Amino acid sequence: MSGIEQMARSKLAELEAAALRRALSETGRGDAGQATRDGQQMISFCCNDYLGLSQHPQVKQAALAAIEQYGAGAGASRLVTGNHPLYEDLETRLARLKETEAALVFGSGYLANLGIPPVLVGSGDLILADELSHASMHAGIRASNADSLFYRHNDVADCQKILDEQRGDYRHCLIMTEGVFSMDGDRAPLVALCDLAERCDAWLMTDDAHGIGVLGDGRGSAAEAGVAGRIPLQMGTLSKAVGSYGGFICATKPVIDLLINRARSLIYATGLPPAAVAAASASLEIIENDGVLIRIPMERARRFTRQLGLPEPESTIVPLITGTAEAALAASNLLAKDGFLVTAIRPPTVPEGTARLRFTFAAHHSDDDIDRLVAAVKKTEILP
Ligand SMILES: *Cc1c(COP(=O)(O)O)cnc(C)c1O
Repeated sequence: MSGIEQMARSKLAELEAAALRRALSETGRGDAGQATRDGQQMISFCCNDYLGLSQHPQVKQAALAAIEQYGAGAGASRLVTGNHPLYEDLETRLARLKETEAALVFGSGYLANLGIPPVLVGSGDLILADELSHASMHAGIRASNADSLFYRHNDVADCQKILDEQRGDYRHCLIMTEGVFSMDGDRAPLVALCDLAERCDAWLMTDDAHGIGVLGDGRGSAAEAGVAGRIPLQMGTLSKAVGSYGGFICATKPVIDLLINRARSLIYATGLPPAAVAAASASLEIIENDGVLIRIPMERARRFTRQLGLPEPESTIVPLITGTAEAALAASNLLAKDGFLVTAIRPPTVPEGTARLRFTFAAHHSDDDIDRLVAAVKKTEILP
């Protein structure tokens, strides 16, 4: 066996032994949260398509029309010839939704988070981030040459303590947090973070991947907290409730213009396929106008937590911590037998010892789906 294969096999064996080996499972998706795996029809409670918009006829139609008019691919970076006319409409909608001057669409949420911090801060600057920040935020933090420190999860006092001690040693300071934490479902204390950032001359950047479309009348967690106008950097994704693909940042015009000039993950990556951009626009049209639809996912999450005696959900994401990876896998397998797809979330996606089942609730789940899920969860005996 050659060296590279030996290395790969031994690393995989280590993962296997720790119940941390991952594999891709072919999954078909359909309307109403249906998922097909290994020939089994299941209902998915782990998808981020909170409004079901990836399957919405108007959204699909917009994607088809875009392919007919502009083709399947963008052909080049947005700065070369990839900036097809559909971007303008999408960025206008995003800026309106987030109440900012301008918006910029990246190839994905990961690419946005990778590319943005290095443009704004560097050597001599400080990034302070919540310790549970998403892997893509860590990638952007590392790609910048700024010093980085992590405050305890959602602990504004800890963040303030670090700022009090360190702020004076740095030129610029960027504070980064998720609006809704993707694996925990709790929300960041945005009012207090805004106050702190303003007081300490720091720039606040939120990643609201799981807030757009479901919180704050669809505008996201900043609107929900009443601080939409106070967060200078609002990042998000088009790949979750928006049902398409791509990432974005909403900010003032000069900041957006600087990002266009400097963000490497924008400049050196091909523009999004026209279909993805058109689908996102069509979804935002629905999010802006269908106030009934956007309230349903939270109602579904509440139905679940109430029946299980869990705390009120702060988002459409409800985790049940199992501790070990083995226990998470076992519980996931039990739910699968009852027809529910809830993948186990294991380290390093979450900290060591906090493996979990992560349930997500969507508009297309019926009351009956949830009631049956509750019964299945009770059988797994993972409840505290
Ligand atoms: C999913 C997610 C991302 C990445 O977005 P993509 O568009 O899927 O690349 C970034 N941040 C958070 C918090 C996420 O949950």
